[in-house]
Amino acid sequence: MIEINDKSKCCGCTACMSICPLRCISMTSDDEGFLYPSVDKNKCVQCGACDKVCPIQNVVEETSFEQKAYIVRNKNREIKKASAAGGFFYNLGSYVIKSGGVVCGVVLDEAFHAVHISTDLEEDLIRFAGSKYMQSIVGNKTFAHIKTNLDKGKQVLFSGTPCQVEGLLSFLKEDYSNLITVDIVCHSVPSPMIFDKYLEYVSKKYHDTIIDVHFRDKKYSYNFPTMKLVGRKKGEFYHCGMEADPFLRAFFANICDRPSCYNCHFRKQYRRSDFTIWDCNTVAKDAPEFNDGLGATKILIHTEKGCNIIKEIGNSYDLIEMQTEQIINRNSAMFKSNMKSNHRAEFFKDATVLDGYSLMQKWFPITWKHILTHKIRIFLQVIGLQDFMRLLKHKIKTK
Ligand SMILES: Cc1cc2nc3c(=O)[nH]c(=O)nc-3n(C[C@H](O)[C@H](O)[C@H](O)COP(=O)(O)OP(=O)(O)OC[C@H]3O[C@@H](n4cnc5c(N)ncnc54)[C@H](O)[C@@H]3O)c2cc1C
Repeated sequence: MIEINDKSKCCGCTACMSICPLRCISMTSDDEGFLYPSVDKNKCVQCGACDKVCPIQNVVEETSFEQKAYIVRNKNREIKKASAAGGFFYNLGSYVIKSGGVVCGVVLDEAFHAVHISTDLEEDLIRFAGSKYMQSIVGNKTFAHIKTNLDKGKQVLFSGTPCQVEGLLSFLKEDYSNLITVDIVCHSVPSPMIFDKYLEYVSKKYHDTIIDVHFRDKKYSYNFPTMKLVGRKKGEFYHCGMEADPFLRAFFANICDRPSCYNCHFRKQYRRSDFTIWDCNTVAKDAPEFNDGLGATKILIHTEKGCNIIKEIGNSYDLIEMQTEQIINRNSAMFKSNMKSNHRAEFFKDATVLDGYSLMQKWFPITWKHILTHKIRIFLQVIGLQDFMRLLKHKIKTK
């Protein structure tokens, strides 16, 4: 029976809940806002299915194989604008829906929580575009629903964090030829509760109700992404990057992530997914012809199925083939877990007692230094030095 005594050993993928033949596992939130399995001991017959399916308890050995690497960008400007990088996921989704399949990925719901939904409607695809920087709620029926569709012979595209994809594959057991999986290079997943606190903070600070959020907006450029907030009264009133925005600062300070992210088992080059996608933040150097300020996506293809699909959908994007080693180029988020902030426990202790405004003011106040840095970044963007600074930063980081 699954028992979570060490939270760093549960990624919340829902495989255990989904496999339970007696439906006696539910996902419940802890006081940090992360979901964990909870077993109804009166119903459990100790069959052990939950332990056997856990992707952390049963990590699949990494073995090397031939891979293909590309930098791609969607041909449609509006799709690129809405996406985190080059909008590659949209191309895949569109291909699957046109062939009568189902797409399962992450959208923001009305409460601004990241949730997995499934759809067979092309008009829903745009909701998947863009990274939602918090752990998504997979839901009670998502994995079972995917299995039902696969068994019916429908093509299914599933996208999520590497741990969610591993959880799904472990749950399915069988290798379905009609399943396509996409994972991301994942920095980590912050707590949805901390995002709620942040929304409380901005609503109070700017005296408005937030009606739309974009975590990686490209108003200034792809190379200077910002959090975008839209208020009921003010409209689109806020664009602020990781140099000053309290939530993005918390995210990159590694202070509010799921405990398992600090010891992630799924950061690796050779994965079980078909595609791994991530930001091409070196677009100015690696693909200058794609450097239009709207972004490009790096992709690594792990399977023959993936290679065939990329050929089939070839007319919907621009593409440059790369050497695998070159595209990976010591990408730290692909291989290495982040160091947990020493202040994490203290931060979450405050989060349970303080309202959002007081929490953010205490931990991530916006000082004149932040405002100045923000203005300098805008200035660098205007005079065209942002690309240079970004590449310099990347060079220093990967040295
Ligand atoms: C939490 C998180 C951390 C990331 N960390 C990094 C990083 O460190 N380095 C890097 O290069 N790239 C990172 N990315 C990936 C990157 O931001 C882009 O998603 C990727 O470059 C593909 O962009 P795209 O424009 O092709 O597709 P998009 O249209 O932007 O891709 C959207 C896809 O991401 C999925 N998605 C969105 N939010 C979530 C979520 N919360 N959980 C699971 N899946 C989600 C959607 O289902 C959809 O399939 C991260 C993404 C997320 C969500």
